[in-house]
Amino acid sequence: MTAATTTIPDAPASAAAPRATMRAAQVLGPRSVALGNVALPVPSAREVRVRLEGCGVCASNVPPWEGRSWFTYPLRPGQLGHEGWGMVDTVGDEVRAFAPGDRVAFLSDHAFAEYDLTAEEKLIKLPHTLAGAPFPGEPLGCAVNIFRRSGVRAGQTVAIVGVGFLGALLVGMAKSAGARVVAVTRRAFSRRLASLYGADEVVPLDDADPHDAVRRVAELTDGSGGYDVRGFCDVVIECTGKEVALDVAGEMCAVRGRLVVAGYHQDGPRQVNLQLWNWRGLDVVNAHEREPAVYLDGMRAAAEMVASGGLDPGPLYTHRLPLERLGEALDLTRDRPNGFVKALVMMR
Ligand SMILES: [Zn+2]
Repeated sequence: MTAATTTIPDAPASAAAPRATMRAAQVLGPRSVALGNVALPVPSAREVRVRLEGCGVCASNVPPWEGRSWFTYPLRPGQLGHEGWGMVDTVGDEVRAFAPGDRVAFLSDHAFAEYDLTAEEKLIKLPHTLAGAPFPGEPLGCAVNIFRRSGVRAGQTVAIVGVGFLGALLVGMAKSAGARVVAVTRRAFSRRLASLYGADEVVPLDDADPHDAVRRVAELTDGSGGYDVRGFCDVVIECTGKEVALDVAGEMCAVRGRLVVAGYHQDGPRQVNLQLWNWRGLDVVNAHEREPAVYLDGMRAAAEMVASGGLDPGPLYTHRLPLERLGEALDLTRDRPNGFVKALVMMR
């Protein structure tokens, strides 16, 4: 069970004074979260304070939610929330590019709260056409950046292994770029999602025999393995963060193909078939972005794509929960029940 009791003491606030506190969710330990009042953070000269509308819940939140030996608890109030969007509330003295009232998406790490601070170079303004729509900028920018690093071109055969939030967006972008898209995914629900986003072929991935999917992709591409490799895919993007999916993704790559690791593999080491990667001469790209300027660029491109109707993440926001139900949102993200793609925690 998740704790929902308030354990953080209320800071004093008088009715007449400007607001001094905010509500923030705090992970106290594995599968334990509390909602409390904490001091409203004050921006330094080059920071911006955002009043959040919402924040996406990310698969990367699951290991610290479940607990791993390398995490220390309690986490800080709001911590783990990194997919926030909202309205600029106040800015530091030296901030020129943003003003109160700007609607923004931003990078930060304490956005499971009513307000969060970020550096002025870590925000993008949202186009007016997106008014009222959720915009978790970080994962949308991440999808665009992964797609850019995948180098997908028209006419290529591209396999997307794992169709959740990221995979579905990549199916859509690869299709728009003119590729032939093969979606490989476990859940029947995700296979329907892949079709909705335009996949040409949808291949089931069966945990009991994952190589079945490789054989099916071989059939679809006139592929054969061994020392005389033929067929398979020009680009394979692995989006699950699971070792078995990484294995089959490698096996689906053509000679000189590109294996793009988009899954989040931070819960422990992986063993890979370097013999196969090496023989096929694969380019292996770890496509997570860590450079804020590049991240922001991807977020801007994503905002334009969504605003222009080129990409619709709407069907992927399957669950919206208020901040006080963050624990449930994290459990949903871990358990992925049928019909679940992504949870958004809404602040108001
Ligand atoms: Zn994320």
